[in-house]
Amino acid sequence: MTQNVPFLDLKAQQARIAADLRRRLDAVLAHCQFVLGPEVAELERELAEFCGAKHCVSVSSGTDALQIAMMAEGIGPGDAVFLPAFTYTATAEVPLVLGAVPVFVDVDPRTFQIDPAHLQARIDAVRKAGKLRPRMIVGVDLFGQPADWAALAAIARREGMITLDDCAQSFGAALGGRMLGVLADATATSFYPSKPLGAYGDGGALFTDSDERAALFRSLRTHGEGTTRYEVIRTGMNGRLDTMQAAVLLSKMTVFREELEIRERVARAYDQRLGNAVTIPARVPGSTHAWAIYAILLPDAAARTRMQEGLKAAGVPTVIYYPKPLHHQPAYAKSHDGAALPVSEDLATRILALPIHPDLSEADIDRVCTAVLANV
Ligand SMILES: *Cc1c(COP(=O)(O)O)cnc(C)c1O
Repeated sequence: MTQNVPFLDLKAQQARIAADLRRRLDAVLAHCQFVLGPEVAELERELAEFCGAKHCVSVSSGTDALQIAMMAEGIGPGDAVFLPAFTYTATAEVPLVLGAVPVFVDVDPRTFQIDPAHLQARIDAVRKAGKLRPRMIVGVDLFGQPADWAALAAIARREGMITLDDCAQSFGAALGGRMLGVLADATATSFYPSKPLGAYGDGGALFTDSDERAALFRSLRTHGEGTTRYEVIRTGMNGRLDTMQAAVLLSKMTVFREELEIRERVARAYDQRLGNAVTIPARVPGSTHAWAIYAILLPDAAARTRMQEGLKAAGVPTVIYYPKPLHHQPAYAKSHDGAALPVSEDLATRILALPIHPDLSEADIDRVCTAVLANV
């Protein structure tokens, strides 16, 4: 048997950028400014320009980006933060760390993005109960494509709430011709190695068009510092991006646009060959997709188990994002009000992610499709 198809291939990607990467890392080793070195500012300029945001503030992880964004708005006890139940754990963890309450919202059964109609119903219910202040909407751009930002922004305006875009999986995607990074009051992304734009360790960034928010983000990522380094004007954290990681990301940026195009081509190949056999991912209208994850839907849990085992035997790895909606996680169940979230619960039983990355060969794609079709 030949080697397995790689679910992600960071070694092949590294070989493509090897010379540029080595040069940038050597430059950091030469100047030794390992924290907030010149590469950090260069990366922030480049990322802001890439997505059209006025400000980029790099931080230590996607989770810290969410935390700093919420700290900047003073999110805390008594506040309700609305977020989808079908997402990665970090989105719900941060409001709880700050003493606020995550209010779980169901997702659209086709696009898997937060459902604006259900969001409105959840906000209405929280207002009626009268115990929490609805403060923030966290729209997650799940799997590489944008949430319905027009609808989310309209709800936020009407309700006097703040929008935070959890763009950890989708940096590089666009909606209505505008890149993610400019569609919410603040946008948080992650450079975890497996994200479309990944570092060689943890990293993240915040984007905003607001001068005030950007200044707060910068202060909060360095212990709440004021205009001078040893003046502390608010409680912050140590949330900076390492210079080494900035250097890695600058190198990755030299190929990022091209990689997004290749991911799109892989997705189209999957769509074409698998579309008649399984439920392929639905596109958000008017969007481009960063294809962090290509997830198919099987008819039920048993069919998914058969598919996953059949693919494994054929050397095709798969991953389940996510086997449990967040309101069913032991850590979060106690802060859930018991509302039904049937779509999130259903998706968790039937969804399955296939390998997608810029270093899949034609032979790999063929092998994935042949194996899927043989196990329907
Ligand atoms: C990965 C991820 C995060 C957290 O990012 P880290 O850099 O790992 O802290 C947050 N939200 C979503 C939706 C993610 O996928």
